[in-house]
Amino acid sequence: NLNIPVNSTQREVKVYSGRHYNTDREVYKRFAKETGIKVRLIEAAGISLIERLKREGNNSQADLILLVDAARITNAAKAGLLQSINSTSLENDVPDGLKDPQKNWYALTRRVRVMVVNPKVVDVNKIKDYTDLADPSLKGKVCLRNRKSPYNQSLVANQIVNKGEMETKAWLSGMISNVSKPFFPGDISIIRAVSKRKCGVGIVNHYYVARMLAGVNGRRDTLYAKKVSVLTPKPAHVNISAGGIAKYANNTSEAIKLLEFLASPKGSKGLAAPTFEHPLKEVNQNEIVKSFGEFKPDKVTIKDLGDNNSLAIKLMKDAGWN
Ligand code: FE
Repeated sequence: NLNIPVNSTQREVKVYSGRHYNTDREVYKRFAKETGIKVRLIEAAGISLIERLKREGNNSQADLILLVDAARITNAAKAGLLQSINSTSLENDVPDGLKDPQKNWYALTRRVRVMVVNPKVVDVNKIKDYTDLADPSLKGKVCLRNRKSPYNQSLVANQIVNKGEMETKAWLSGMISNVSKPFFPGDISIIRAVSKRKCGVGIVNHYYVARMLAGVNGRRDTLYAKKVSVLTPKPAHVNISAGGIAKYANNTSEAIKLLEFLASPKGSKGLAAPTFEHPLKEVNQNEIVKSFGEFKPDKVTIKDLGDNNSLAIKLMKDAGWN
């Protein structure tokens, strides 16, 4: 065992990531190869990562922060955990609506909130949009993930922006009265329940179904996923994973370089292809993902989703979404 002395001039960047995908490491390796900047990864679940940053304050080691979900990244910015940066390549590579007007964060990948339906339980032709889940004919047949999930908070925020508070309230009250309780802990358990006919329809992120179909979660989940149909509303609610530079970063220029790399067409595709997400400017070309149908992202911006997060949570609570 050789003791190799640590080269103190080695450039590095420390990443706090709420993206819990091993495949991201390949992209970091490519970055390190191209730039000579070493990537040190500190992974954590989304919410505890934000709590951790708050607790650590200016002692934090974090340089680049990666989070999934619109509400999480906008809340991190509101909590003052990120810093504004100027980067022409980020401005060019990240489409409008998927970046912070204050330049605190930039989207890296996109995910679509779709519906999974069991054709043996409900009439697939009757469900086109999330709002159809309020139809009284679906009583006891709707399964939803619990209110704490930022994915659903962002979906509700999306409806508030698109349809206004009153219509969203009416949709929520109808849909929640159709829910087969208890609420579920995660998207995967919803896909299983719909498959097992415990429910007729649920709402999940598209990549969970893709992963199950691809066999990433094992054979049993592949069989479950094969029994559900994926319905992609047009337009569909699109959520993101995103990155921003930590307020107290020690390696700011290295962190900006890495963020630029991840948001570039090559980087975004490198993150999104193996996770079945969509890159920023293209559609994932995997056959499974393509089988879910084309999606037309609606015009709601990620900032709008963040700005409506508190109201979304309130309306969910009021409607009995636990
Ligand atoms: Fe997820």
